[in-house]
Amino acid sequence: MVLPVVLLASPRSFCAGVERAVEIVEHLLDQRGGPIHVRKQIVHNTHVVAGLEARGAVFVDELDAVPDGATVVFSAHGVSPAVREEAQRRGLDVVDATCPLVTKVHAEARRFAKRGDTVVLIGHAGHEEVEGTLGEAPDRTVLVESADDVARLEVADPDRVSYLTQTTLAVDETADVVAALKARFPNIKGPASDDICYATTNRQDALREVARDADLVLVVGSANSSNSVRLVELARRNGVPAHLVDDASDIRPEWLEGVRTVGLTAGASAPPRLVDEVVEELGARDVQVRETARETIQFTLPGAVRPR
Ligand code: SF4
Repeated sequence: MVLPVVLLASPRSFCAGVERAVEIVEHLLDQRGGPIHVRKQIVHNTHVVAGLEARGAVFVDELDAVPDGATVVFSAHGVSPAVREEAQRRGLDVVDATCPLVTKVHAEARRFAKRGDTVVLIGHAGHEEVEGTLGEAPDRTVLVESADDVARLEVADPDRVSYLTQTTLAVDETADVVAALKARFPNIKGPASDDICYATTNRQDALREVARDADLVLVVGSANSSNSVRLVELARRNGVPAHLVDDASDIRPEWLEGVRTVGLTAGASAPPRLVDEVVEELGARDVQVRETARETIQFTLPGAVRPR
């Protein structure tokens, strides 16, 4: 078998919001010891979750599994106001790891709803971020997943409509949905700057660059990671076979038959070390980094965990 060349997409792997969320739980474990309860997976990655669990984090689906008065961390995907109110009612000590870029979308949802608009949220039903954003103005917000959904929309006043998006969508697909919305509601208003975040956009741009020259694309990430799944779909839309792998052990030998060049990336919630392990498993004869952007964004930690 010919050992493949690996084209490594850059940027890839952890984004600033994921780094911050993971650090928050790590700091809490260091400062207060376990158990530290976390509502939902802190980020959508099985390795990150297992690593924190081993150190004393306890992941729960809902707040009723958190003892009264205990510390609870809200995940990077954000929560609805109803969850915040419940935590307050229960006297829980909340440390919020919501990514600031998700918080921005929540603020827009509140602002748009307050001015009397129907808010159209473009996103995937059931995703935790979408659940949280919908909860900001549940009576005024409708969810659409595709341009077909737009055709079926019914709104109170077609001149008072705004849209928002989930932060981790495919840029090209979302543009089609926004175009459909603009065609149907010419006076629709959008966010001042894109809701699809810089990390999602950068990883998709970088992947496009490596997919162009690859026979196969591998994306390191977990199945419930929205931005990782979008990367696999994007590669396939660009005509390249692509697979999502949680780690190197998921790689199947038959995927590599006749493959000379592998494009490799990782979703924003996948740790960098997993990418290194995939490179090693592939036995690459050459590794070439294709950089399309350099990320310098960092988010400050909340006061509750900031080292003094
Ligand atoms: Fe924040 Fe984007 Fe990272 Fe999600 S993918 S945590 S929105 S920076």
